[in-house]
Order: sequence, then structure tokens, then C-alpha cells
Amino acid sequence: MIEDVFCKIIAGQIPGEVVYRDDEVIVLKDIHPQAPVHLLVMPVRHVDGLGDLAEHDGVLLGKLIAVAHRVAGEQGLVKGYRLIVNEGEHGGKLVPHLHVHLLGGKALGPKIVAND
Ligand SMILES: [Zn+2]
Repeated sequence: MIEDVFCKIIAGQIPGEVVYRDDEVIVLKDIHPQAPVHLLVMPVRHVDGLGDLAEHDGVLLGKLIAVAHRVAGEQGLVKGYRLIVNEGEHGGKLVPHLHVHLLGGKALGPKIVAND
């Protein structure tokens, strides 16, 4: 039984703010936004992380990016946005369910990691 918070939201067991959903991909608002727009694009089926994708999951991975781009447009991010996947401990992954961060709504600058 998978118990991560995203699977619980997808199953309707706990509330989440859904921005987009189809049979394969769901987009949620991050509850601790780090930009004016901060969304989480993820597969509906449970996938732990990038290392758990099979070769045929390339289609799913491509769809995550395509949906992110479409939703970014719907959110009015006409000046651009950033996509990030945090993988593993050093990558800063907090929830063990593959998700792509979609950040935008302000100039994010060229740096991806803070200097500290
Ligand atoms: Zn899950």
C-alpha cells in the first residue's frame, strides 16, 4: 500500500488543489510555494522517482513536460518558467512520488542553487 501524500491526494483521501488532471498526469499547487506560481506535475500512477521509470515510460516523461508547458500557458506564464526534478537525498526530494516542479510568475534569474 502506497502511503505518500500525493497518492492520497490523487485517491481523494486528503484535499489538494488540482490545477489539471487526465488519466495519466495530475498537476497540484505546491502548499509551500517558492514563486508566485509553483505547481507540481506528476504521474497519476505511483512512480517513486526517475530511477523507477522503465524505457517505455519515456512517453509518460514526455507527457509530464508537455502538460507542464500547457499549464504554464494557462497560468499566464508568457515570459517563461522553470521546471525542476528533485531526485534523491542530495537533490532535495521530499515526497517519494515523482514530480516536476513548475515555477514562474517572476524573473527567477539564471542561478538554480542558492550560494550558501
Ligand atoms: Zn505515490
